[in-house]
Amino acid sequence: MRVLVIGAGVGGLAAANGLAGRGHEVEVFEHADSLRTSGAGITVWSNGTAALRGLGVDIEPLGRPLRSLRSITDTGRLLWEADLGEVTERLGSPTVQIPRRVLIAALAGALPPGMVHFGRRCTRVVENPDHVVVEFADGTSATGDLLIGADGQRSVIRRELLGGRDARPTGWASWQGLTTSDLPIARGHQTLNIAGRAGHAGLIPSGDGLLHWWFDTPWREGDPVLSVADLREVFRGWPEPVEALLASVTDDDLGFFPHIRHKVPEVWGGARSTLLGDAVHAMPPAVAQAANQTLEDAWMLTQFLSEVDRPPAELLRAYEQERRPRVLKVSRTAALTSAQRSTPLQRLGRFPKWAATRSQLVTLRSGSNVLRTPAPVPAGAHAA
Ligand SMILES: Cc1cc2nc3c(=O)[nH]c(=O)nc-3n(C[C@H](O)[C@H](O)[C@H](O)COP(=O)(O)OP(=O)(O)OC[C@H]3O[C@@H](n4cnc5c(N)ncnc54)[C@H](O)[C@@H]3O)c2cc1C
Repeated sequence: MRVLVIGAGVGGLAAANGLAGRGHEVEVFEHADSLRTSGAGITVWSNGTAALRGLGVDIEPLGRPLRSLRSITDTGRLLWEADLGEVTERLGSPTVQIPRRVLIAALAGALPPGMVHFGRRCTRVVENPDHVVVEFADGTSATGDLLIGADGQRSVIRRELLGGRDARPTGWASWQGLTTSDLPIARGHQTLNIAGRAGHAGLIPSGDGLLHWWFDTPWREGDPVLSVADLREVFRGWPEPVEALLASVTDDDLGFFPHIRHKVPEVWGGARSTLLGDAVHAMPPAVAQAANQTLEDAWMLTQFLSEVDRPPAELLRAYEQERRPRVLKVSRTAALTSAQRSTPLQRLGRFPKWAATRSQLVTLRSGSNVLRTPAPVPAGAHAA
Protein backbone atom coordinates (compact mmCIF):
# COMPACT_ATOMS: atom_id res chain seq x y z
CA MET A 1 0.00 0.00 0.00
CA ARG A 2 1.06 3.60 -0.52
CA VAL A 3 1.15 5.17 2.96
CA LEU A 4 1.42 8.92 3.57
CA VAL A 5 2.88 9.83 6.96
CA ILE A 6 2.51 13.43 8.16
CA GLY A 7 5.29 14.50 10.56
CA ALA A 8 8.93 13.40 10.75
CA GLY A 9 9.13 13.35 14.53
CA VAL A 10 9.71 10.29 16.68
CA GLY A 11 6.39 8.64 15.76
CA GLY A 12 6.32 9.39 12.05
CA LEU A 13 9.90 8.19 11.51
CA ALA A 14 9.34 5.09 13.65
CA ALA A 15 6.19 4.15 11.74
CA ALA A 16 7.94 4.80 8.41
CA ASN A 17 10.66 2.33 9.41
CA GLY A 18 8.16 -0.35 10.39
CA LEU A 19 5.90 0.10 7.37
CA ALA A 20 8.72 0.34 4.83
CA GLY A 21 10.25 -2.76 6.39
CA ARG A 22 6.98 -4.57 5.68
CA GLY A 23 7.10 -3.63 2.01
CA HIS A 24 4.74 -0.64 1.98
CA GLU A 25 5.51 2.35 -0.21
CA VAL A 26 5.95 5.11 2.38
CA GLU A 27 6.28 8.88 2.02
CA VAL A 28 6.85 11.14 5.03
CA PHE A 29 5.93 14.86 4.86
CA GLU A 30 7.47 17.23 7.39
CA HIS A 31 6.53 20.85 8.01
CA ALA A 32 10.08 21.95 8.93
CA ASP A 33 12.88 22.43 6.36
CA SER A 34 15.02 19.73 7.98
CA LEU A 35 14.75 17.18 10.80
CA ARG A 36 13.73 18.87 14.05
CA THR A 37 16.57 17.76 16.28
CA SER A 38 16.14 20.18 19.17
CA GLY A 39 14.97 19.03 22.58
CA ALA A 40 16.85 17.41 25.41
CA GLY A 41 16.75 13.70 26.18
CA ILE A 42 14.22 10.92 25.92
CA THR A 43 13.99 8.03 28.36
CA VAL A 44 13.26 4.99 26.23
CA TRP A 45 11.91 2.44 28.71
CA SER A 46 11.79 -1.32 28.18
CA ASN A 47 8.58 -0.99 26.16
CA GLY A 48 10.17 1.63 23.89
CA THR A 49 13.40 -0.27 23.25
CA ALA A 50 11.38 -3.44 22.51
CA ALA A 51 9.19 -1.49 20.07
CA LEU A 52 12.22 0.00 18.34
CA ARG A 53 13.83 -3.41 17.98
CA GLY A 54 10.57 -4.68 16.51
CA LEU A 55 10.62 -1.80 14.05
CA GLY A 56 14.13 -2.74 12.97
CA VAL A 57 15.98 0.14 14.73
CA ASP A 58 18.53 -0.64 17.43
CA ILE A 59 19.34 2.41 19.58
CA GLU A 60 20.87 0.53 22.48
CA PRO A 61 24.52 1.20 21.49
CA LEU A 62 23.69 4.91 21.03
CA GLY A 63 22.08 5.70 24.37
CA ARG A 64 23.07 5.49 28.03
CA PRO A 65 21.72 2.36 29.74
CA LEU A 66 19.96 3.29 32.98
CA ARG A 67 20.35 0.85 35.87
CA SER A 68 18.52 2.56 38.71
CA LEU A 69 16.00 5.23 39.44
CA ARG A 70 16.40 7.06 42.76
CA SER A 71 13.79 9.38 44.15
CA ILE A 72 14.45 11.76 47.05
CA THR A 73 12.78 14.78 48.65
CA ASP A 74 14.09 18.34 48.67
CA THR A 75 15.44 17.62 52.17
CA GLY A 76 17.46 14.68 50.82
CA ARG A 77 15.23 11.93 52.31
CA LEU A 78 15.11 8.76 50.21
CA LEU A 79 11.61 8.04 48.92
CA TRP A 80 12.35 4.94 46.89
CA GLU A 81 14.81 3.38 44.54
CA ALA A 82 13.98 1.13 41.61
CA ASP A 83 16.40 -1.41 40.20
CA LEU A 84 16.06 -0.97 36.44
CA GLY A 85 18.50 -3.83 35.86
CA GLU A 86 15.93 -6.15 37.42
CA VAL A 87 13.17 -4.61 35.27
CA THR A 88 15.35 -5.12 32.17
CA GLU A 89 15.91 -8.75 33.07
CA ARG A 90 12.24 -9.43 33.74
CA LEU A 91 10.93 -7.65 30.64
CA GLY A 92 13.77 -8.64 28.33
CA SER A 93 14.56 -5.15 27.09
CA PRO A 94 16.64 -2.31 28.61
CA THR A 95 15.90 1.28 29.60
CA VAL A 96 18.10 3.72 27.70
CA GLN A 97 18.47 7.49 27.92
CA ILE A 98 19.13 9.06 24.54
CA PRO A 99 19.41 12.65 23.31
CA ARG A 100 16.34 13.35 21.17
CA ARG A 101 18.55 14.44 18.27
CA VAL A 102 20.37 11.06 18.35
CA LEU A 103 17.07 9.17 18.36
CA ILE A 104 15.73 11.24 15.46
CA ALA A 105 18.97 10.75 13.49
CA ALA A 106 18.92 6.99 14.10
CA LEU A 107 15.29 6.71 12.97
CA ALA A 108 15.82 8.89 9.89
CA GLY A 109 19.15 7.25 9.06
CA ALA A 110 17.51 3.83 8.84
CA LEU A 111 15.17 5.04 6.06
CA PRO A 112 16.04 5.01 2.37
CA PRO A 113 17.18 8.43 1.08
CA GLY A 114 14.38 10.61 -0.28
CA MET A 115 11.57 9.07 1.77
CA VAL A 116 11.17 12.22 3.93
CA HIS A 117 9.99 15.41 2.19
CA PHE A 118 10.75 18.63 4.07
CA GLY A 119 9.05 22.03 3.99
CA ARG A 120 5.63 20.39 3.45
CA ARG A 121 3.10 21.68 5.98
CA CYS A 122 -0.09 19.70 5.67
CA THR A 123 -3.18 21.89 5.81
CA ARG A 124 -6.05 19.72 4.61
CA VAL A 125 -7.16 16.10 4.24
CA VAL A 126 -9.71 14.80 1.75
CA GLU A 127 -10.77 11.18 2.19
CA ASN A 128 -12.36 9.21 -0.62
CA PRO A 129 -13.65 5.63 -0.58
CA ASP A 130 -10.57 4.28 -2.34
CA HIS A 131 -7.83 6.85 -1.66
CA VAL A 132 -6.86 9.81 0.50
CA VAL A 133 -5.46 13.19 -0.57
CA VAL A 134 -3.41 15.54 1.61
CA GLU A 135 -2.87 19.17 0.68
CA PHE A 136 0.10 21.28 1.69
CA ALA A 137 0.61 24.99 2.37
CA ASP A 138 2.85 25.30 -0.71
CA GLY A 139 -0.07 24.37 -2.97
CA THR A 140 1.08 20.80 -3.66
CA SER A 141 -0.77 17.62 -2.70
CA ALA A 142 -0.13 13.89 -2.36
CA THR A 143 -2.38 10.87 -2.86
CA GLY A 144 -2.15 7.57 -1.04
CA ASP A 145 -4.03 4.48 0.05
CA LEU A 146 -3.61 5.37 3.73
CA LEU A 147 -2.80 8.43 5.84
CA ILE A 148 -1.01 8.35 9.21
CA GLY A 149 -1.22 11.59 11.21
CA ALA A 150 1.99 11.79 13.27
CA ASP A 151 2.11 15.58 13.50
CA GLY A 152 2.46 15.95 17.26
CA GLN A 153 0.77 17.95 19.99
CA ARG A 154 -1.14 20.50 17.93
CA SER A 155 -2.07 18.06 15.21
CA VAL A 156 -3.65 19.50 12.09
CA ILE A 157 -4.50 15.97 10.96
CA ARG A 158 -6.42 15.31 14.18
CA ARG A 159 -8.37 18.51 13.71
CA GLU A 160 -9.08 17.63 10.07
CA LEU A 161 -10.14 14.06 10.82
CA LEU A 162 -11.90 14.45 14.16
CA GLY A 163 -12.49 18.13 14.82
CA GLY A 164 -12.97 18.77 18.52
CA ARG A 165 -11.10 20.64 21.18
CA ASP A 166 -7.43 21.45 21.48
CA ALA A 167 -5.32 19.84 24.19
CA ARG A 168 -5.72 21.34 27.67
CA PRO A 169 -2.93 22.76 29.81
CA THR A 170 -2.31 20.90 33.11
CA GLY A 171 -1.05 23.94 35.05
CA TRP A 172 2.58 22.79 35.06
CA ALA A 173 5.61 23.38 32.84
CA SER A 174 9.16 22.07 32.41
CA TRP A 175 12.41 23.96 32.04
CA GLN A 176 15.03 21.58 30.73
CA GLY A 177 18.35 21.16 28.98
CA LEU A 178 21.00 18.75 27.81
CA THR A 179 24.52 19.88 28.62
CA THR A 180 28.01 18.47 28.94
CA SER A 181 28.66 18.12 32.64
CA ASP A 182 31.57 17.38 34.98
CA LEU A 183 29.16 16.24 37.70
CA PRO A 184 29.72 12.57 38.67
CA ILE A 185 26.04 11.78 37.98
CA ALA A 186 26.68 12.44 34.26
CA ARG A 187 29.08 9.48 34.14
CA GLY A 188 26.81 7.06 36.02
CA HIS A 189 23.77 4.98 35.15
CA GLN A 190 21.35 6.35 37.73
CA THR A 191 18.48 8.78 37.28
CA LEU A 192 17.85 11.09 40.21
CA ASN A 193 14.35 12.52 40.78
CA ILE A 194 13.73 15.11 43.46
CA ALA A 195 10.30 16.10 44.78
CA GLY A 196 9.84 19.30 46.75
CA ARG A 197 7.39 22.02 47.67
CA ALA A 198 8.66 24.29 44.89
CA GLY A 199 8.29 21.63 42.22
CA HIS A 200 10.12 18.60 40.89
CA ALA A 201 13.54 18.13 39.32
CA GLY A 202 15.47 15.36 37.62
CA LEU A 203 18.97 14.60 36.38
CA ILE A 204 19.58 11.82 33.87
CA PRO A 205 22.95 10.71 32.42
CA SER A 206 22.63 10.66 28.64
CA GLY A 207 26.00 9.30 27.40
CA ASP A 208 29.21 11.05 26.24
CA GLY A 209 29.31 13.15 29.43
CA LEU A 210 25.91 14.68 28.68
CA LEU A 211 23.38 15.31 31.40
CA HIS A 212 19.66 15.81 30.76
CA TRP A 213 18.17 17.94 33.54
CA TRP A 214 14.64 19.19 34.07
CA PHE A 215 12.76 21.40 36.51
CA ASP A 216 8.96 21.32 36.77
CA THR A 217 6.96 24.07 38.46
CA PRO A 218 3.32 25.14 38.44
CA TRP A 219 2.78 27.44 35.46
CA ARG A 220 -0.26 28.98 33.77
CA GLU A 221 -0.61 30.89 30.51
CA GLY A 222 0.48 34.46 31.21
CA ASP A 223 2.90 33.52 34.02
CA PRO A 224 6.51 34.59 33.40
CA VAL A 225 8.83 32.12 31.66
CA LEU A 226 11.66 31.48 34.13
CA SER A 227 15.34 32.17 33.49
CA VAL A 228 18.24 30.23 34.98
CA ALA A 229 18.54 32.97 37.63
CA ASP A 230 14.86 32.40 38.54
CA LEU A 231 15.41 28.63 38.73
CA ARG A 232 18.37 29.17 41.09
CA GLU A 233 16.04 31.16 43.34
CA VAL A 234 13.11 28.70 43.17
CA PHE A 235 15.31 25.63 43.78
CA ARG A 236 17.68 27.26 46.29
CA GLY A 237 18.71 24.89 49.09
CA TRP A 238 17.79 21.73 47.16
CA PRO A 239 20.13 18.78 47.61
CA GLU A 240 23.24 18.58 45.48
CA PRO A 241 23.87 18.29 42.64
CA VAL A 242 20.91 20.63 41.92
CA GLU A 243 22.63 23.86 42.96
CA ALA A 244 25.92 22.86 41.26
CA LEU A 245 24.04 22.06 38.06
CA LEU A 246 22.16 25.36 38.07
CA ALA A 247 25.42 27.22 38.70
CA SER A 248 26.89 25.64 35.56
CA VAL A 249 24.17 26.36 32.97
CA THR A 250 23.01 29.46 31.11
CA ASP A 251 19.77 30.73 29.61
CA ASP A 252 20.98 29.50 26.20
CA ASP A 253 20.84 25.94 27.55
CA LEU A 254 17.25 26.28 28.69
CA GLY A 255 14.22 24.88 26.88
CA PHE A 256 10.68 25.51 28.07
CA PHE A 257 7.51 23.54 27.49
CA PRO A 258 4.11 23.81 29.16
CA HIS A 259 2.43 20.48 29.93
CA ILE A 260 -0.77 19.57 28.13
CA ARG A 261 -3.12 16.62 27.97
CA HIS A 262 -5.36 15.70 25.06
CA LYS A 263 -8.48 13.56 25.42
CA VAL A 264 -7.92 10.14 23.83
CA PRO A 265 -10.81 9.75 21.36
CA GLU A 266 -12.77 6.52 20.76
CA VAL A 267 -11.91 6.44 17.05
CA TRP A 268 -8.72 7.97 15.69
CA GLY A 269 -9.46 8.48 12.01
CA GLY A 270 -11.55 7.80 8.94
CA ALA A 271 -11.87 5.03 6.36
CA ARG A 272 -8.29 5.49 5.20
CA SER A 273 -6.64 7.40 8.03
CA THR A 274 -5.52 7.15 11.63
CA LEU A 275 -3.29 8.93 14.15
CA LEU A 276 -0.38 8.02 16.35
CA GLY A 277 1.76 9.61 19.07
CA ASP A 278 1.15 13.03 20.56
CA ALA A 279 -1.42 13.78 17.86
CA VAL A 280 -3.77 11.35 19.56
CA HIS A 281 -2.57 11.13 23.17
CA ALA A 282 -0.50 14.16 24.21
CA MET A 283 0.14 13.73 27.94
CA PRO A 284 2.16 15.46 30.65
CA PRO A 285 5.70 14.09 31.06
CA ALA A 286 5.08 12.93 34.65
CA VAL A 287 5.71 9.25 33.81
CA ALA A 288 8.03 9.91 30.86
CA GLN A 289 5.96 7.74 28.54
CA ALA A 290 4.89 10.04 25.65
CA ALA A 291 7.62 8.89 23.28
CA ASN A 292 7.36 5.27 24.48
CA GLN A 293 3.62 5.11 23.87
CA THR A 294 4.29 6.63 20.45
CA LEU A 295 6.78 3.87 19.68
CA GLU A 296 4.25 1.28 20.85
CA ASP A 297 1.69 2.85 18.47
CA ALA A 298 4.13 2.66 15.55
CA TRP A 299 4.97 -0.97 16.32
CA MET A 300 1.32 -1.98 16.70
CA LEU A 301 0.24 -0.18 13.53
CA THR A 302 2.98 -1.98 11.63
CA GLN A 303 1.70 -5.33 12.94
CA PHE A 304 -1.86 -4.64 11.80
CA LEU A 305 -0.86 -3.24 8.42
CA SER A 306 0.99 -6.48 7.69
CA GLU A 307 -2.36 -8.16 7.13
CA VAL A 308 -3.09 -7.79 3.44
CA ASP A 309 -6.48 -9.42 3.05
CA ARG A 310 -8.63 -7.17 5.28
CA PRO A 311 -10.09 -3.78 4.25
CA PRO A 312 -7.91 -0.84 5.44
CA ALA A 313 -10.65 0.65 7.64
CA GLU A 314 -10.96 -2.65 9.52
CA LEU A 315 -7.20 -2.82 10.12
CA LEU A 316 -7.02 0.80 11.27
CA ARG A 317 -9.93 0.42 13.72
CA ALA A 318 -8.43 -2.84 15.02
CA TYR A 319 -5.12 -1.03 15.65
CA GLU A 320 -6.93 1.75 17.54
CA GLN A 321 -9.01 -0.67 19.62
CA GLU A 322 -5.90 -2.59 20.61
CA ARG A 323 -3.98 0.56 21.56
CA ARG A 324 -6.68 2.67 23.18
CA PRO A 325 -7.03 0.90 26.57
CA ARG A 326 -3.26 0.91 27.09
CA VAL A 327 -2.83 4.53 26.00
CA LEU A 328 -5.77 5.60 28.17
CA LYS A 329 -4.29 3.90 31.22
CA VAL A 330 -0.87 5.50 30.75
CA SER A 331 -2.34 8.92 29.97
CA ARG A 332 -4.51 8.76 33.10
CA THR A 333 -1.56 7.67 35.22
CA ALA A 334 0.44 10.61 33.86
CA ALA A 335 -2.43 13.03 34.54
CA LEU A 336 -3.00 11.66 38.07
CA THR A 337 0.70 11.86 38.88
CA SER A 338 0.76 15.40 37.61
CA ALA A 339 -2.35 16.33 39.61
CA GLN A 340 -0.90 14.78 42.81
CA ARG A 341 1.92 17.29 42.55
CA SER A 342 -0.54 20.04 43.34
CA THR A 343 -2.20 18.41 46.38
CA PRO A 344 -2.00 20.08 49.81
CA LEU A 345 0.06 17.11 51.08
CA GLN A 346 2.76 17.77 48.51
CA ARG A 347 2.65 21.48 49.17
CA LEU A 348 3.36 20.63 52.81
CA GLY A 349 6.33 18.57 51.69
CA ARG A 350 4.71 15.12 52.17
CA PHE A 351 5.41 12.77 49.27
CA PRO A 352 3.72 9.39 49.58
CA LYS A 353 6.06 6.62 48.43
CA TRP A 354 3.33 4.61 46.82
CA ALA A 355 2.31 7.39 44.48
CA ALA A 356 5.74 7.87 42.99
CA THR A 357 6.50 4.16 42.70
CA ARG A 358 3.16 3.40 41.13
CA SER A 359 3.29 6.19 38.64
CA GLN A 360 6.80 5.51 37.39
CA LEU A 361 6.65 1.74 37.11
CA VAL A 362 3.02 0.74 36.66
CA THR A 363 3.23 1.68 33.03
CA LEU A 364 5.92 -0.88 32.39
CA ARG A 365 4.62 -3.81 34.36
CA SER A 366 1.43 -4.67 32.56
CA GLY A 367 -0.52 -4.07 29.44
CA SER A 368 2.29 -3.23 27.08
CA ASN A 369 1.31 -4.78 23.77
CA VAL A 370 4.85 -4.80 22.58
CA LEU A 371 6.29 -6.47 25.68
CA ARG A 372 3.45 -8.99 25.75
CA THR A 373 3.79 -10.02 22.12
CA PRO A 374 7.27 -9.51 20.78
CA ALA A 375 7.03 -10.02 17.03
CA PRO A 376 9.98 -8.32 15.40
CA VAL A 377 9.72 -7.09 11.85
CA PRO A 378 11.85 -9.47 9.80
CA ALA A 379 14.98 -7.89 8.44
CA GLY A 380 14.38 -7.06 4.81
CA ALA A 381 14.82 -4.44 2.18
CA HIS A 382 12.82 -1.25 2.48
CA ALA A 383 10.31 -0.62 -0.23
CA ALA A 384 11.68 1.50 -3.03
C1 LIG B 1 11.44 20.04 18.61
C2 LIG B 1 10.93 19.04 19.62
C3 LIG B 1 11.67 18.82 20.79
C4 LIG B 1 11.23 17.89 21.74
N1 LIG B 1 11.99 17.66 22.87
C5 LIG B 1 11.64 16.67 23.73
C6 LIG B 1 12.45 16.34 24.85
O1 LIG B 1 13.48 16.94 25.09
N2 LIG B 1 12.05 15.35 25.69
C7 LIG B 1 10.90 14.65 25.46
O2 LIG B 1 10.58 13.72 26.22
N3 LIG B 1 10.10 14.95 24.41
C8 LIG B 1 10.44 15.94 23.54
N4 LIG B 1 9.63 16.24 22.46
C9 LIG B 1 8.36 15.54 22.33
C10 LIG B 1 8.53 14.13 21.85
O3 LIG B 1 9.29 14.06 20.67
C11 LIG B 1 7.13 13.59 21.63
O4 LIG B 1 6.37 13.76 22.83
C12 LIG B 1 7.03 12.13 21.38
O5 LIG B 1 8.21 11.61 20.89
C13 LIG B 1 5.88 11.83 20.45
O6 LIG B 1 6.32 11.97 19.10
P1 LIG B 1 5.42 12.46 17.92
O7 LIG B 1 6.04 11.91 16.69
O8 LIG B 1 3.99 12.17 18.19
O9 LIG B 1 5.55 14.04 17.93
P2 LIG B 1 6.82 14.94 17.60
O10 LIG B 1 8.09 14.24 17.93
O11 LIG B 1 6.53 16.24 18.24
O12 LIG B 1 6.79 15.09 15.99
C14 LIG B 1 5.76 15.75 15.27
C15 LIG B 1 6.34 16.21 13.94
O13 LIG B 1 5.28 16.64 13.09
C16 LIG B 1 5.68 17.85 12.43
N5 LIG B 1 4.47 18.58 12.05
C17 LIG B 1 3.61 19.25 12.87
N6 LIG B 1 2.58 19.75 12.17
C18 LIG B 1 2.78 19.39 10.87
C19 LIG B 1 2.05 19.62 9.67
N7 LIG B 1 0.90 20.32 9.66
N8 LIG B 1 2.54 19.10 8.51
C20 LIG B 1 3.70 18.40 8.48
N9 LIG B 1 4.43 18.16 9.61
C21 LIG B 1 3.97 18.64 10.79
C22 LIG B 1 6.53 18.56 13.46
O14 LIG B 1 7.38 19.54 12.88
C23 LIG B 1 7.31 17.39 14.08
O15 LIG B 1 8.50 17.13 13.40
C24 LIG B 1 10.02 17.17 21.51
C25 LIG B 1 9.27 17.41 20.34
C26 LIG B 1 9.73 18.32 19.37
C27 LIG B 1 8.94 18.53 18.08
